[in-house]
Amino acid sequence: MSRVFDINGVKIGGGNFVLIAGPCTVESEAQIREIAERVKESGAGILRGGAYKGRTSPHDYQGMGEEGIRLLLQARKTVGMPVVTEIVSADHLPQFDDVDIIQVGARNMQNFELLKALGRTDKFILLKRGMSNTLRELLLSAEYITGEGNDKVILCERGIRTFETSTRFTLDLSSAAALREMTDLPVVVDPSHAAGRASLVEPMALAAAATGVDGIMIEVHNDPANALCDSAQALTPDQFDSVARKIRKIREVVIG
Ligand code: PEP
Ligand code: MN
Repeated sequence: MSRVFDINGVKIGGGNFVLIAGPCTVESEAQIREIAERVKESGAGILRGGAYKGRTSPHDYQGMGEEGIRLLLQARKTVGMPVVTEIVSADHLPQFDDVDIIQVGARNMQNFELLKALGRTDKFILLKRGMSNTLRELLLSAEYITGEGNDKVILCERGIRTFETSTRFTLDLSSAAALREMTDLPVVVDPSHAAGRASLVEPMALAAAATGVDGIMIEVHNDPANALCDSAQALTPDQFDSVARKIRKIREVVIG
């Protein structure tokens, strides 16, 4: 059983399961508010939305930056749910003062100076597994944070790179299950980035729920076709609602 974290009223770990949902990236006030309202109605406990994006290509959309954080916090106030958003540089830390959970993206899992800086904060940290990193390396990265005094780390499996090219990444569910034997930190699975396309998100989310993980993070957009980032893998709010219902049923089986 993992430890329980109380994230401003939302418990995760130790049998408490949380759905995290929202767009890849915050695009406008109306976009994030509408998505926040919809995912909350469907049972999400935490709202996600990128403001700073660690994109593979410098030519891709890089996010709204500080303004994106402001709009995310505004949506948080409107709907009353904690938020998670990604940090790409320790220089930006002051902008994250009111953010509930700071995400470290897969591409920054071994940015050790960033991890140490986060270890000197009192924020919850969502640490994503690098696409080519072992579980041992993920846990050592977590120790860069905990070693500085911050033990509020949540781990996230988001797909790894394998020889398979027909999916964006390979969702490593056996590792998600193995992590629960290796650490008492809560473990979350992100099927959206692993799948890379919306049609695969539901089956992977349901499979993840069946492994008994502490949370599932899903990208949701009110207009997926026109999403500025990760458009192909975004679920509509209606699709998310349907997945959330099925996840709840699977959780009943898991809890037994
Ligand atoms: C994200 O959560 O939007 C993201 C960029 O994820 P990852 O770092 O896992 O690619
Ligand atoms: Mn994304």
